[in-house]
Amino acid sequence: MPSKKRFLLVNPWVYDFSAYSFWARPLGLLKVTEYLSQFDLDINFVDCLEIEKFKHYGTGKYRSEEVAKPDVLKDIPFKYKRYGISEEEFLFRVKKNGPYDMVLITSIMGYWYPGVIRAVDIIKSLFKDAYIILGGIYATLYYQHALNNSGADFVYKGKLDERFDGILHNLGLKKISLKKNYYKMGVYETFPFAPILTSYGCPFNCSYCASKLIYNGYLRCDNAEVLQEIRDLYNLGVRNFAFYDDALLVESEKYIKPLLRDVTVKFNNIKFHTPNGLHARFIDDELALLFKKANFKTIRLSLETTNPIRQRDTGNKVNNEDLVNAVKILQSYGFTKKELGVYLMYGLPGQSIEEVREGVELLKKLNVRVNLAEFSPIPGTDAWKELIRKGVIDENIDPLLTNNSIFSLLFWGYRRDIIYNLKWDVKNYNAM
Ligand code: SF4
Repeated sequence: MPSKKRFLLVNPWVYDFSAYSFWARPLGLLKVTEYLSQFDLDINFVDCLEIEKFKHYGTGKYRSEEVAKPDVLKDIPFKYKRYGISEEEFLFRVKKNGPYDMVLITSIMGYWYPGVIRAVDIIKSLFKDAYIILGGIYATLYYQHALNNSGADFVYKGKLDERFDGILHNLGLKKISLKKNYYKMGVYETFPFAPILTSYGCPFNCSYCASKLIYNGYLRCDNAEVLQEIRDLYNLGVRNFAFYDDALLVESEKYIKPLLRDVTVKFNNIKFHTPNGLHARFIDDELALLFKKANFKTIRLSLETTNPIRQRDTGNKVNNEDLVNAVKILQSYGFTKKELGVYLMYGLPGQSIEEVREGVELLKKLNVRVNLAEFSPIPGTDAWKELIRKGVIDENIDPLLTNNSIFSLLFWGYRRDIIYNLKWDVKNYNAM
């Protein structure tokens, strides 16, 4: 009998100036694992971004080590690090079950591509015959860059579809069973938190966001299946769940409200987190009450800016009134600054630092946590096109320079001391 084909799935390292896991899991790659469960394969999974030290509710710190800066970053006065397991540990885990017929590597931010290249390099040096496919967000948004630089044998752009069937068919593989959930396959440790996705994509179209480029359309999952996933993970001991949706609250009467009604009667001691910002305009009394009963511990709303013109021009997903109403409703159900935070962006095209400060002052008045999010331009978005049109960036910019930690310093001329003071002020306020 021919032996099973061996597959290796890899979530590579992050190379950055800072990184922390706010319930980060390689969900796309885990979905690929589930897809592969239909075939008779030997599947191995190496997650370079295993958390070294867990903190509140399953967030956590990665192991890190300083690495040499690529030339293009050499004048940046911050330490550049590789986050995740050591290379020795990676080598050990990868060698353990090799050689492989196929290696699937995922990718996330464009400016993390050095992690992809390093993982491809190591795997190629160990297993010359392995066919390496690179997928994920960097591969999709920076397809040409990934083709030219990643070293992978094939760059897979976009979501999992019949093209992947074709690749497996060419390997002589046929589906022999039903799909299994990743947490039932014994290839990935789920504790102490799990990501939950109740929808794909987003019906909005914000000028700075890649949602439509990554998933073209908007699809809701079946509530019964989501509930079953929560039940399975709960039975495995998971108590913290992070919603990964881009648009969790859209059509709330049909989706999130019935789901939470079920959750509140079926599970004890469970906690929910929404690291992706929620749409403030969809918060109402019933939803706030359900959040309370279902034990939401981390709620993030998206505001991005208080400037009404910029709100309108970037996609009209929220205005100041929506935000104030949502905060008041949530506060009336007992949510405090401890649980309730609001995302504010800085570095949007044309945005002054005064505008960011105004946002911070509004959030302070509302007595909610301030979550500053640095803008990073994403290829294909309207914001990216505007920056090219205005000559701020070049179409072929090295993705490393779009890193959110440095973009506004490099391209907007924000003064470093002013940003530092603003962040310091926000940090002190949040800690109060
Ligand atoms: S609402 Fe959020 S997820 Fe949807 S397009 Fe806008 S920023 Fe992206």
